[in-house]
Amino acid sequence: MKNILIIGGGLGGLSAAISLQSKGYQVTIIDENQHPGGKMMSVKMGGYSFDFGPNTITMPKVFQSVINDAGGDSSSYFQFEKLEKHTKNVFSNGKVLFQSANPEEMIAELRKFDSLGASRYREYLKEVNRLYLLAEKSFFYRVFDSWKDYLSPQLSRSFMKVRPFEKMNHFHRRYFRDEDVLKVFNRYATYVGSSPFSCPATFSLIGHLEMNDGVYYAKGGNTSIATGFRQFFEEIGGVCKFGTRVEEIIVKKKRVIGVSTSDGEFLMGDDVIINGDFITATRNLIREEDRLSFPNKKLDSYQPSISAFVILAGVKEYQESIHHHQLFYSEDYKKEFDEIFKDKRLPGDPTIYISHSAATDPNITKGSNLFILVNAPAIDLKRDEIVQYKEKIYDKLENHGIFIRDSIEVEKIFTPNTIKSKFSAYKGALYGIASHSMTESFLRPSNVSKDIDRLFYVGGTTHPGGGSPMVTISGRNVANYILNRDKV
Ligand SMILES: Cc1cc2nc3c(=O)[nH]c(=O)nc-3n(C[C@H](O)[C@H](O)[C@H](O)COP(=O)(O)OP(=O)(O)OC[C@H]3O[C@@H](n4cnc5c(N)ncnc54)[C@H](O)[C@@H]3O)c2cc1C
Repeated sequence: MKNILIIGGGLGGLSAAISLQSKGYQVTIIDENQHPGGKMMSVKMGGYSFDFGPNTITMPKVFQSVINDAGGDSSSYFQFEKLEKHTKNVFSNGKVLFQSANPEEMIAELRKFDSLGASRYREYLKEVNRLYLLAEKSFFYRVFDSWKDYLSPQLSRSFMKVRPFEKMNHFHRRYFRDEDVLKVFNRYATYVGSSPFSCPATFSLIGHLEMNDGVYYAKGGNTSIATGFRQFFEEIGGVCKFGTRVEEIIVKKKRVIGVSTSDGEFLMGDDVIINGDFITATRNLIREEDRLSFPNKKLDSYQPSISAFVILAGVKEYQESIHHHQLFYSEDYKKEFDEIFKDKRLPGDPTIYISHSAATDPNITKGSNLFILVNAPAIDLKRDEIVQYKEKIYDKLENHGIFIRDSIEVEKIFTPNTIKSKFSAYKGALYGIASHSMTESFLRPSNVSKDIDRLFYVGGTTHPGGGSPMVTISGRNVANYILNRDKV
């Protein structure tokens, strides 16, 4: 039986692990954290329960199929609920636009703001559906392991049709005119850690997922996806070593042979899959002479994707007015992204996202479990800055009539620095490299090591990209690559 080692038990690592373990490999996951799911992490404090990381879930079938295709029944491990009016968008003038995957409702909402947008909305849905289907067919379910893959005529044809040369903001202006409505759709750039003013219109396909397919919630908390994956993996014989850090990937004659860990162990592996951040893991775990394609200088030069400033606030009084997904937008969206990516500082007038899963699932927590997120550059923040910024966020919420300061019972802050140290993430970036230039967007780090035989990469910092469904797909892609290679 072949041994496969997976460094990291994030969603990408877990999905690869289940797919391979179910086909007769002996798979071991090694993760420095104590919990499964990496950035998808449950935080419990004083009776309050929070989902850190993925709060907005799309493409539920992707998660279900990991277990179902491995011979299990995903509904025994987690169940999804579709959120009808999924997102409440509040603009700086106090006006509110609800987003829904029901086109009739959405058109009625748009009419209040943007008559052109309302009349073009069905056209928009059709176009983002087209972008999604093309990307799905040619891009998502493939491992690009050689330059020849990129040169295939079929891929080139699809590539030219996904609006690679147009910017997302430009694309959305074809359909919407109101500046506030544009913010709602341009926000999808942040789902790939980027700015809508710099990233390709291709990523507008995210609109298909939310506005055609819908937004979902995993009952009991989204982290039930990760705990369900772990439980199923162990039930079919997989091994998890949590609280253990991989210190080095051992390479002999350009082939991986195993890893050494913080427990002082050497584990042998026929294949090794890295689920940790591509840049950090490559730089820290592999000797520079073994990775000629990725010398330190190159790895250090990458532009990190967006990071986040997150407050988990447990609020005693239930916040009736806060929806499951709610946003308070900045006045000037362009300025906000310039501050993040060009000036590399915290935005002066931040767009605040709140996930309040108690609005859907009140039994999971005491009071209101507010996950408050502001987009931030991947930089170190000083202690004073952190405290001042938290107050700025609470001030802005008060301007919108949300007074929580005096009823907060538990509070925890995550900065880019916390994200960097907790998940070994490059500069605290959520998605590794930003998706701005053509290379960054379409040539993400390959899932197959260029230099070392039998070494693979899965997860949000590699192909096809970040976000919980995509990383889960990356794990399955690599598992399928290994199964095909071994003709299993
Ligand atoms: C604040 C925040 C909000 C987000 N919101 C959303 C959202 O709403 N929707 C969505 O779909 N996605 C969201 N994401 C993104 C999503 O969480 C990630 O894209 C996805 O979970 C990453 O999965 P992954 O497989 O890449 O692994 P990760 O979650 O990055 O896990 C990798 C694991 O490997 C471990 N590791 C690394 N190096 C080593 C080593 N040397 N030894 C041992 N272990 C190691 C890490 O500590 C980590 O536990 C969000 C992320 C964050 C942080």
